[in-house]
Amino acid sequence: MSLSERADKERSLQHGANIADACRKCQIGYERRHNVYGEGNPCADLLLVGEGPGETEDLMGRPFVGRAGQLLEKMLESIGFAREDVYICNTVKCRPTSPGERGPKNRAPDPTEMANCRPYLDEQIEIIRPRVILALGAPAAKSFLGRDFQITKQRGCWYTGPHGIDLMVTFHPAYVLRQTGGELTQVKRLVWNDLKAVRDKLQEPPKQPPAPEITQAELF
Ligand code: SF4
Repeated sequence: MSLSERADKERSLQHGANIADACRKCQIGYERRHNVYGEGNPCADLLLVGEGPGETEDLMGRPFVGRAGQLLEKMLESIGFAREDVYICNTVKCRPTSPGERGPKNRAPDPTEMANCRPYLDEQIEIIRPRVILALGAPAAKSFLGRDFQITKQRGCWYTGPHGIDLMVTFHPAYVLRQTGGELTQVKRLVWNDLKAVRDKLQEPPKQPPAPEITQAELF
């Protein structure tokens, strides 16, 4: 990809980030500290999509920077990727919270918030055009594959995402961090299998776009 194509993508993503920053379609748009649009390589082959910003992400304005982010970086390293190689974003750009005893606590985005925010995610996919999308956790998976998606039964398979892009689902790093003992070992093994499948998919030759149809008159 040429430098000018990369610069075009960067400009388009920055434009999208500016629009999302001014967005107040949901109540959480008024409550968040920062709009967490996404970051990374605008020409990435691999796009990671989580559910929504947590407390640290909201504070810093960057996706996956807390403990889950550190684990995500280790997961990426295990298949030979640095954070800078991929693009990372979420299904919603503002932190979803509910009232807690010690202040707002994280919650999963609700269907209305995900629907409101979907155009920003679609635009990111359209600009980046990755070869593989890795959805992290059930909310991200459901945003692509429907509300009935069951992560424990249906993760680890290939699906067709937007624009025909290959889509894999694995557990969210925050879910992995909540496991202990034998459960932790088992979940880590499943995530490792999913990541290996992503690595292998990215080592395949890129899909060729379908050849344009030729009419008989154009043949000779
Ligand atoms: S979550 Fe998305 S749609 Fe809702 S206010 Fe934030 S940027 Fe806008």
